[in-house]
Amino acid sequence: MNISELLARNARKFPDKTAIIDGDIELSYVEVDRTVNRLASSLSRLGICQGDKVILYMPNTKEFAFAYFAVLRLGAIVVPVNARLTASEVQYILHHSEAKAVIAHEWICGQLAPLVGQGNVIWIKTGEAADGWASMADLIAAGAPDPIVCPLNEEDEATILYTSGTTGKPKGVLFTYRNIFAVATMMVIETKMDRHSRILHMMPLSHSAPLHLFFVGGTYVGATHVLAPAFSPEALLQLVEQHEITHFFGAPVAYLLTAKHPRLHDYNLSSIRYWTYGGAPLSRDEVLFVASQFRTDRLMCLYGLTEAGPNGTYLSPEEHATKAGSVGKYAALHCEVKIVDDQGKEVRPGEIGEIVLRGESVMKGYYKDEEKTKETIKDGWVYTGDLARRDEDGYIWVVDRKKDIIISGGVNIYPKEVEDVLRTHPDIIDVAIVGVPHPEWGETAKAFVVAAKPLENLVEDCKRFLKEKIADYKIPRLYEQIEELPRNATGKVLKQVLRGKHDETAARR
Ligand code: ATP
Repeated sequence: MNISELLARNARKFPDKTAIIDGDIELSYVEVDRTVNRLASSLSRLGICQGDKVILYMPNTKEFAFAYFAVLRLGAIVVPVNARLTASEVQYILHHSEAKAVIAHEWICGQLAPLVGQGNVIWIKTGEAADGWASMADLIAAGAPDPIVCPLNEEDEATILYTSGTTGKPKGVLFTYRNIFAVATMMVIETKMDRHSRILHMMPLSHSAPLHLFFVGGTYVGATHVLAPAFSPEALLQLVEQHEITHFFGAPVAYLLTAKHPRLHDYNLSSIRYWTYGGAPLSRDEVLFVASQFRTDRLMCLYGLTEAGPNGTYLSPEEHATKAGSVGKYAALHCEVKIVDDQGKEVRPGEIGEIVLRGESVMKGYYKDEEKTKETIKDGWVYTGDLARRDEDGYIWVVDRKKDIIISGGVNIYPKEVEDVLRTHPDIIDVAIVGVPHPEWGETAKAFVVAAKPLENLVEDCKRFLKEKIADYKIPRLYEQIEELPRNATGKVLKQVLRGKHDETAARR
């Protein structure tokens, strides 16, 4: 059941097959496996054993793969955190997870300088040893080559992924091996991955979809992983062409940026079998825009959330022809989906309710937070906090996140609906709408816009534009122009940052 055993099995079955491409470096399965054995042996010598937690603070690089598999090989629990987190954010996770070691990449380990030396933590960095840091390269060189096998069963814990905290403090989502195998095999089957697949990893491997669906899924079948430390449209296009990528997963914003890239059509992208996207909404117009710019009929939508592994629903490329913008009709393999009312009763088509998910991939629970776990998982169903409705054909359309609804004068406004319309305005580049306090109505809608021209000329124009398309009560009364929307590493707009920004502006007045 050990995920790391997949690597060892691939090394035996097809030793020379390329496992990892990282820049100019290509490593076969047997090379990766040997490195992992050595690193695991040294980590074991340092005292890391089954059940210990080890934080990985690394971008998508070959060293991430070595550390990930080596930690699992010992039966220890991997805690991959986003490489863009600040020292204080890592400190919170270090404290909460009670991690025994931190393995950081030399490009970014300087960020953690204020923490090094604290507590009984073992600090390891890639590259050379430095003040307070052991060297991962030295550990690999000094490690014994013999395979280490820590026999595990499916209920053993493999990973804690900390949510990005768009709904409050990050929560540690704990996964067992069974959870991870369920989502990984789902992805393999639904996107027909095999050992000839070449998967491009540009979204952070510290998140559930990139890690469990694509990295573990690809390893399951012996695919080739192309690792890229950061996203840019140019790098995406260039790597897809150069490595004849077959599978890519990206946040919606990655697709929108690439769709607008002036040199998009200079690249040969014909190797792609699945352009998968998810993690945040993409409206019907945006999906159609991306499909037309990419000249593809291979878009696939994935809907889910960390707590569900992130298994949820998906919209296949074929279904995009008629249902673009929906997140699909059926649950993904190993999963069930319902849309329910406040009493947990399934709603009728057309009615809005909350999406709930159940299945093998659902997290074991929030680490050290039984109360929150009970609030989120009821009778085995994960309450997603996402509101949605089914259309007459049974397809699910996400309306908005429950916590983002604006209740103005007792009436519900779903910001996503208004944002989707406003984004079609020719002068608007990006927009996010949040509820802000209002003395009479409780809340009122405020639009933060990224626009191509000064806002003074735009407000009346926006209101007029919206008036033709949506009911009057949904039209935001307040507007503020900003340079760029604050987003997290997976491309989600950080609405709490915008609410804070409004409070600051209001306090200054
Ligand atoms: P937090 O739980 O703190 O908000 P997070 O935003 O990182 O952290 P994730 O698990 O990454 O949590 O995000 C899951 C959410 O992303 C879903 O609940 C949903 O709102 C949104 N989402 C994911 N996929 C899609 C999709 N295909 N379409 C629309 N929304 C999506």
